[in-house]
Amino acid sequence: VSRRVVHPPRAEPDAALAANLHVAAGHWAAGRARVRASADWEAMRERGRAIREDAIRNLPELVDRLEASVTEAGGRVHRAATAEEACSRVVALCRERGATRAVKSKSMLTEEIGLGPALAAAGIDAVETDLGEYIVQAMGDRPSHLLAPAVHLSAGEVAEVFSRQSGRSLDAEDTRSLVDHARGVLRDRFLAAEVGISGVNLAVAETGTLILVESEGNIRLGTGLPRVHVAVMGIEKVIRDWSGAAHLMQLLPLAAHGVPAPASLSLVTGPARDGDDGPEELHLILVDDGRSSMRGTEYESALHCIRCGACLYACPVYRQIGGHAYGSTYSGPIGAVLTPALEHGAHGSEELAELSSLCGACAEACPVKIPLDRQLVSLRADAARRHPRPAERALFAAWARLWSRPAGYRASAATSGRALAPLWGRLARASRGAGWQARAPFPFSRWTEGRDVRAPDPEPFHARWRRRRG
Ligand code: SF4
Repeated sequence: VSRRVVHPPRAEPDAALAANLHVAAGHWAAGRARVRASADWEAMRERGRAIREDAIRNLPELVDRLEASVTEAGGRVHRAATAEEACSRVVALCRERGATRAVKSKSMLTEEIGLGPALAAAGIDAVETDLGEYIVQAMGDRPSHLLAPAVHLSAGEVAEVFSRQSGRSLDAEDTRSLVDHARGVLRDRFLAAEVGISGVNLAVAETGTLILVESEGNIRLGTGLPRVHVAVMGIEKVIRDWSGAAHLMQLLPLAAHGVPAPASLSLVTGPARDGDDGPEELHLILVDDGRSSMRGTEYESALHCIRCGACLYACPVYRQIGGHAYGSTYSGPIGAVLTPALEHGAHGSEELAELSSLCGACAEACPVKIPLDRQLVSLRADAARRHPRPAERALFAAWARLWSRPAGYRASAATSGRALAPLWGRLARASRGAGWQARAPFPFSRWTEGRDVRAPDPEPFHARWRRRRG
């Protein structure tokens, strides 16, 4: 199982995508600014950092304690060292109970370990129940944001796929009818499911309580109606006690959407008891999959992440290209750190650190003060040490020398644009309009294997500037 992409990453400019992301970012940023102004945000962040640091520093002890508490509350804990082990365990739990229908709630970890495809391969029909995830699943797509999986899609695209599903023509302007369609389908699935699969936002070691945060109510239905609840959790989500949990539950909605409390919070301590409503069985799958090996490295603090998504919307690169361009489960600044740290740079994931302007907005936005900007620089340095590129270094050094002098800059800009433009144009396989090319000549072709490139403008910037100013 790989965290790498199902689709090849492409970072072609997509005006609609960038507009969607800017609108969402602006909307949530305004909410965050409002609420933070009324609270001692810096002190809250510092406390959040300390709580998460305590959890990761004492991870083995707290995971043991969590296991004991969950068991005492009547649940069963299964430890999985790898993604494959975790998927096999969930599949085995379904098979042992003869279950073929499951409902699933949004969880980046299940994306990371490839649980959806593993269930499908085992003949288990698992439907996503978060509206965004449901849309993404119906389109055969992948989520593009931690909290808003379908933020890259327009209402028109959703209407098209729902119209096909329902056999009726649904109007993109009438979002109510789109939601009603999804609700109708999902209601039947909740009632028919034998197993409910969820992620876990945090788990409190002292009582064995799993905390599930949501805004739609689907997690409560998905974990309350089926006979069996399987919760899949990365080991780093454990925290020591309720005082820490209460603080992080304040911090998460503030950082994510700028609201003081989540719309819905489920606290699950064991299965149903003494004739209560709820599942008869609770299984907690504790997944390591590279997390333990991050401890003690300079990327350890990336494990502090509470998946609020704030660094994504703060990042100017993410806002422009969206989550899919990263080609990994986790996108944005945290994805650029977490993915190579978990994979030790395999699958070329260390290149994700290049998707950053190093402006530091991500670190400033992070409610648990993860120094993402510093970690991105370190990842770049690691990559340069592991794969030294003397020719590239020499090229950049020469370029730096040339452009350090105004005369050198002007002369090279004037000649290179004019010289390269015809060559570029001849080799272009397809133009995406507005001067963007899908294929460039060697050595730039390596760049265009994964993304589009803007063709050089024959008129250099200085000349254009002079012309515009008359
Ligand atoms: S790194 Fe920080 S800002 Fe980004 S998702 Fe995690 S907690 Fe939120």
